Amino acid sequence: MIAENIHKIVSNIPKNVKLIAISKTKTNHDIMKAYESGQRLFGENKIQEMSSKFEDLPKDIKWHMVGHVQSNKIKYMAPYVDLIHGIDSLKSIKIINKEGVKNNRVINCLLQLKISKEESKFGLDEKQLKEIIFSTDYKEMNNIKIKGMMAMASNTKNESTIKKEFVFAKKVFNEINSLDNNFDILSMGMSNDYQIAIECGSNMIRLGSLIFGERNY
Ligand SMILES: *Cc1c(COP(=O)(O)O)cnc(C)c1O
Repeated sequence: MIAENIHKIVSNIPKNVKLIAISKTKTNHDIMKAYESGQRLFGENKIQEMSSKFEDLPKDIKWHMVGHVQSNKIKYMAPYVDLIHGIDSLKSIKIINKEGVKNNRVINCLLQLKISKEESKFGLDEKQLKEIIFSTDYKEMNNIKIKGMMAMASNTKNESTIKKEFVFAKKVFNEINSLDNNFDILSMGMSNDYQIAIECGSNMIRLGSLIFGERNY
């Protein structure tokens, strides 16, 4: 089933859209089924779980951290993480840069824009996000690269609400992208809203349950 799910999704999305398989709570066995069907990009939201999967699974897997990142946990993923999606403070950026120096690598990350009014969603507002990307603090850092933006729509069945939120994210993304060519990733879209996200210009979708089935927490 997992391999078929991936094939179905990949053959129905535009070529420029990257699929991140969100494997949180799923077993190495399930991840290997996705791997064997060609999937190499996987996402997790807990650092311990991601690190133990990184240890156990093939080394050509690229691991994305999609959860909210506590600054004291950054050091554990700094040696290997491919992309950190949910950065929402200059403090975290400074720590990532420091860890990048220690590990002699450039760590890629995305800033999280808050587009939903729900209390539980983390993220920066438009002004805060632009302040960070254009700050001299950030410009002077050599071991972190802000590659783009991540956004999560409200958890609702109301498609026009979701669409409004994604359209806003795309507007902010375009404004920054027109000034900075390296800012070219727009991560938005989950199992229940990825088609709307792609319509609105997403080029990275994060799908869990649609690939692996429902999660039992
Ligand atoms: C769990 C999670 C996903 C995947 O959710 P599904 O609805 O299972 O596709 C995507 N993004 C983030 C940030 C998540 O935590």
